Amino acid sequence: MGKLAKWLRKMGYDTLFFSGSDDSHMVARALAEGRVILTRDTGIMKRRVVTGGQLRAILINSDAPEQQMRQVMDTLKLDLRFKPFTLCIECNQPLTERSKEQVKDLVPPYVFQMQSQYMECPACHRIYWRGTHWQAMSRRLEEFGNKSNN
Ligand SMILES: [Zn+2]
Repeated sequence: MGKLAKWLRKMGYDTLFFSGSDDSHMVARALAEGRVILTRDTGIMKRRVVTGGQLRAILINSDAPEQQMRQVMDTLKLDLRFKPFTLCIECNQPLTERSKEQVKDLVPPYVFQMQSQYMECPACHRIYWRGTHWQAMSRRLEEFGNKSNN
């Protein structure tokens, strides 16, 4: 499910990831913020807030991240072109634009030479740029899209 959370963030969907055994905190937060719960836990599906329709929850059928992704995209009608690469995939924080000068000492020299557009996560300060890994992620996202249309 961690991988699924990262893929959703790559597409720009605000996604929180909860691990551990205490579901109450997750359920309370989802209710307060109008979130949809994606879970492998059938216990969640039996909760009164879910069966009563106050809280939307989707039981994920597969352990394989690609299958999970396809199920979520189909069920929630997600759009690959929603807001790709606007959230930090680790922290779920909206990325902030950074100028080339601001990242000079933070990225490898070859990246600095080639790239002009940079984004920074305000929480973990990871720098993102539209380089080859950006293109690789785009391709993977496109692949997901093509497969779910078939
Ligand atoms: Zn971050």
